[in-house]
Amino acid sequence: MYTAQFRYFRPADLGEAEALFRAGSDARFLAGGQSLIPAMKQRLASPSELIDISRIAALSFIRRERERLVIGAATKHANVAASGDVQASIPALAALAGMIGDPAVRHRGTIGGSIANNDPAADYPAGVLALDATIATNMRKIPAENFFTGMFATALEPGEIVTEVAFPLPRRAGYAKFPNPASRYAMPGVFVADFGHAVRVGVTGAAACVYRATELETALAHRFAAGALDGSAVDPAELASDLFASAEYRAHLVKIMAQRAVRACDG
Ligand SMILES: Cc1cc2nc3c(=O)[nH]c(=O)nc-3n(C[C@H](O)[C@H](O)[C@H](O)COP(=O)(O)OP(=O)(O)OC[C@H]3O[C@@H](n4cnc5c(N)ncnc54)[C@H](O)[C@@H]3O)c2cc1C
Repeated sequence: MYTAQFRYFRPADLGEAEALFRAGSDARFLAGGQSLIPAMKQRLASPSELIDISRIAALSFIRRERERLVIGAATKHANVAASGDVQASIPALAALAGMIGDPAVRHRGTIGGSIANNDPAADYPAGVLALDATIATNMRKIPAENFFTGMFATALEPGEIVTEVAFPLPRRAGYAKFPNPASRYAMPGVFVADFGHAVRVGVTGAAACVYRATELETALAHRFAAGALDGSAVDPAELASDLFASAEYRAHLVKIMAQRAVRACDG
């Protein structure tokens, strides 16, 4: 019979978490456990130490500043969805958080865990990239543009802990996803952000990694309206094909979700 062997730690602060990681042999940080625990159950991950950062109080907050919204890494999806500050500053981000998984997932999963995991069909990466967010860690600040590096891959170094995500405030933004009927993951999801001087479009659930749809950005920068995308065609060449959807179907859905996201900007 398989018996998982790992030691579990619950540090009180970041310094203790860092020290535990350095002392471990193959340590992993644990936040909501909504991705890591299933991976361990499937034997896809077998860390020797689990360092549970979910109760470090300094990592769980939502703070509205003058020109940005800052969310602590251990903040749960349900708290982002329900936050008056998020709803008032970037309503599309609250809507995105409210679309993740089911209530159980939203009450355990965290924003830091979601972006550190960088599942190709996860919702937050689309919002983080489209909103040009900055990811702060215990070591440095990383622009979203450089953070998501590939399928389940990020710029994070071993032992690096996401501490907060800072979002500049857009003039308007919208998110729409076509959810997988079983998992609720995006297939795809499109986040559109209009900053006045620039329009950014983040696409998840369509390719190996979240990406910016520059051709849609150009069309929307010219005229910010769903109809401005009528003549746009999304190239399926780089998109994923699997048992849920072909690359051609995903390309079609990217355009439709982008149009829905633009319409969602008006509430
Ligand atoms: C049934 C189900 C449905 C789901 N549906 C969706 C969905 O529709 N959309 C969606 O986006 N997601 C979905 N998820 C995933 C969910 O959002 C997870 O919460 C998320 O992917 C991981 O966050 P977590 O806090 O649970 O991280 P964990 O599972 O604890 O950790 C995930 C990874 O991130 C690392 N990590 C965690 N926190 C940090 C940190 N602060 N710094 C550095 N590394 C860190 C861990 O070491 C681990 O490698 C679903 C999950 C389940 C089980």
